[in-house]
Amino acid sequence: MPQHDVKQQQEATTHDIVLVPGDGIGPEVTAAARRVVDAAGVAVHWIDGPAGLEAVRVAGTPLPEATVEAIRRARVALKGPTATPFGGSYRIVFESGGRDGTPRSYPSVTVALRKELGLFVNVRPVRSYPGIASRYQGVDLVIFRENSEDLYLGIERMRDADTAEATKIITRGATERVARFAIDYMQRTGRRRVSIIHKSNILKLTDGLFLEAAQAVLSQAPGIEVSQRVVDAACMDLVMNPEACDCLLLPNLYGDIVSDLAAGLVGGLGVAPGANIGSDCAMFEAVHGTAPDIAGRGAANPTAMILSAVMMLRYIGEADAAYRIDAALSAVLADKACVTPDLGGTAGTRGMADSIVARLQARA
Ligand code: ATP
Repeated sequence: MPQHDVKQQQEATTHDIVLVPGDGIGPEVTAAARRVVDAAGVAVHWIDGPAGLEAVRVAGTPLPEATVEAIRRARVALKGPTATPFGGSYRIVFESGGRDGTPRSYPSVTVALRKELGLFVNVRPVRSYPGIASRYQGVDLVIFRENSEDLYLGIERMRDADTAEATKIITRGATERVARFAIDYMQRTGRRRVSIIHKSNILKLTDGLFLEAAQAVLSQAPGIEVSQRVVDAACMDLVMNPEACDCLLLPNLYGDIVSDLAAGLVGGLGVAPGANIGSDCAMFEAVHGTAPDIAGRGAANPTAMILSAVMMLRYIGEADAAYRIDAALSAVLADKACVTPDLGGTAGTRGMADSIVARLQARA
């Protein structure tokens, strides 16, 4: 197809994307990401998806089933952080729509969305950006965290008044599924080395199964070098020589912990993007939370949310726009003249987004 026809065809595609503004700094950073995506010329039909405290106010629940349904239909969501409105024993309950018709209950909006939409892997790229102060430069790695099982199933009980018990579940099926996803992602992005992270020297059955099942799948992938490391040694490798890491595949709990450790290597939560991906749907969200201490001040760093939107654009086939936004953001970060206070600047969220938009338009 001639180049101009390809372009026209791309211009004709309008993507349905559910935008979940969320709580705290969520509305500020998602608005910045939306502006940048629009300024890159991607045709998006944004669908409002209330969740969190605002949803409690308007719909009486932190996660209306209509929001889940909207994401199921659109297949893509860009999500701001959401607060879990009640502490203690509060849970989100869905009465309908389950496979076996029984109610399902979840401890938080994010867990509910991951489970309801079958988002089985959490992908977190960790990359150094010039201009962002951090202990390391030249870090460029990707973490694949299994998202559906392990201790996060929340199966806990008191065996007696003084003994608490949690159940760790690892299945061959879920492990093979996340390993196959890692292969596909690595092949599409030209990555060559993956390390399976586990603690099978102690947890011989559960982590032993994770290691064995992941190895069996990954070793079939041509051109991919597979290694394995116990999680404690992997943490030491990461803080001593993160530049040497390429891809890491982990069960849910280690994945959660190691992801934040890795984010800290390159400048912290303000710059860490993420994606939750399933077979039919994907939800893109920054790693950081609602940051109530700076919410409403227009001072939140929109970088993590914009980088999450960049991942989203690659997922929906808008690689050119993703590349242009990444380049414009990198230039703004490197220049340092228009960045938020956490990065040592004096700009607000909106001002930083304005600066990225100006770079995008200058390159157009
Ligand atoms: P939550 O309860 O929603 O997890 P939290 O405050 O416990 O919120 P984060 O929201 O992740 O956790 O914030 C941790 C710290 O990092 C806070 O001091 C916050 O101000 C800072 N922070 C997080 N995200 C950003 C951001 N995008 N820009 C600037 N600072 C941020």
